[in-house]
Amino acid sequence: MDRRQFNKTLASALAVAAVPEAPFLAFGRYRTRKLTLNGARLNRHLKELSAFGANPQGGVSRVAYSDADRAGRSYVMDCMRAAGLDVRVDFAGNIVGSRAGTDTVLKPIVVGSHIDSVPDGGNYDGTVGSLSAVEVAQTLQETGVRTRHPLEVVVWANEEGGLYGSRAVSGQLATSQLANRAWSGKTIEEGVAFLGGQPARLSEVRRQRGDIATYLELHIEQGGNLEREGLTIGVVEGIVGIRRWDVTVTGVQNHAGTTPMDQRHDALLATARFVDMVNRVVRGMPGRQVGTVGKIEAFPGAPNVIPGRALATLELRDLDSAKIQRVFDAIEVEAKRIGEATGTTFELQGRHQDIPALSDPAIREIIGDVAKGLGYSTRAMPSGAGHDAQAMAQLGPMGMIFIPSIGGISHSPKEFSTPEDIERGARVLMGAVLQADKR
Ligand SMILES: [Zn+2]
Repeated sequence: MDRRQFNKTLASALAVAAVPEAPFLAFGRYRTRKLTLNGARLNRHLKELSAFGANPQGGVSRVAYSDADRAGRSYVMDCMRAAGLDVRVDFAGNIVGSRAGTDTVLKPIVVGSHIDSVPDGGNYDGTVGSLSAVEVAQTLQETGVRTRHPLEVVVWANEEGGLYGSRAVSGQLATSQLANRAWSGKTIEEGVAFLGGQPARLSEVRRQRGDIATYLELHIEQGGNLEREGLTIGVVEGIVGIRRWDVTVTGVQNHAGTTPMDQRHDALLATARFVDMVNRVVRGMPGRQVGTVGKIEAFPGAPNVIPGRALATLELRDLDSAKIQRVFDAIEVEAKRIGEATGTTFELQGRHQDIPALSDPAIREIIGDVAKGLGYSTRAMPSGAGHDAQAMAQLGPMGMIFIPSIGGISHSPKEFSTPEDIERGARVLMGAVLQADKR
C-alpha cells in the first residue's frame, strides 16, 4: 500500500468512526463502567508516526538509532505524556511510561512493543502494539480507572536488530554484543547513547523473574493465517524456538570435462539433494515445524570445475525444542545417506539457538475470553517471528495478541492491517490488561 492509499484507508476508517462496540466490561469490578477506546485517535497516531522515516514506497525506513528513530520516539513520548504517563528513557534506551497502581506492593503490568523498523519496512510492525498500549493508558486516564497494579507502557529499543532493549532487561544481552553494528551504522553502544541511554550502566536495567506481574503485547500477525481463515484475533501460544546450523559438504574437486559422471564426488550435487531432503523430512512429520536451507555456496565456483566443497545453512523452528531436535536427528541420518550415495561427507555444526518462549496459559485464556466477549473470532497460533515478548517471558507470565496482516505481508512497505482490526486488537489488549489486573 502506498502512502496515498494509507491516508485513504485511514480517512474511510475515521468516517465510519468506530467498530461497533460490545460491552466488554460486563464482568468483575469494572462492571458499572463502560470504557470506550478511541480507535480513531489510535489510527491517527499511527498515521502521524508513519511520517518519521517515511520512504518513497509508502512504508518507513526507521532503523534503530537513526535520526528518524529518535524523532519517532520523541513523538511517541509526547503521546505518552498526553496519556498521563510518567515518561523516562532507561539505560538501555527503552522508553518507559509509568502509571501508578492502587496497590503499592504489586509488580507492574507491562504492555509494549517497538517502533524501529527494518530497512524499507512497513507502517504496522511494532507500531500497532506500541501506540495501542499508549491508547490503553490514555483511555484509563480519561475514564479515571485506576488499576491495582502499576502500569508500564514500554517502547523497546532496537527490536528489529535483535531484541536489544528487551534482552537488556531480561538479562540475555552479553556486554560483548554492544560492539555489534546496527543498520544505522552505529554500534549498539553508540546507538544506546544516541537514544539517551547509558551503555556503561546497562546491567542496571536488568530485572529478575517475578519482577513483572504480566507482559502483554499486541502485534500484527506477519503471516496470512488470520486473514485466510477470516478470523479477527490470534491468541499466541508462544514464540517459536530457532536453531541454525552451518552445513559443510566435502567432496573432491576435479576437472569437469575429464571426470566421468560415475566417478565424481560432487559436493554441490550432494547439497542439492540435501535441500530437497530437508523439505521432505520437515513436511513428513506431523506438526507445524518449519525448516529452511537459506544459503548455498559452492567452491571453487567455476563452470569447468566439479565443486569440491559446498557450504549451506539449515534453520529449524518450532514451539517445542524436543521437536526441533527430533527433526534435526532425522535430517542428520538422511544427510549421512546422501553422503554415502554421492561420495561426500556432511558436517553439521550448530551456530545459533533461540529457545521457544511459551505464553502463559492463564493469560492466553484471558485474551481468548476478552476477544470472545467482544464478539471476535479467535484462533490459537504460534508466532514464527521473534518479538520482545520472548525476552519478557523470561521474567513473568507473557501473552501476545495478533491481528490480521493483509496478504500475510510484513517487513515491507506493503505491510497493512485495517484500521478496524487495529481498533479491535487494541480493545482486546485493554480488556486483557484489566483482566490481568484482577489476578
Ligand atoms: Zn515487530
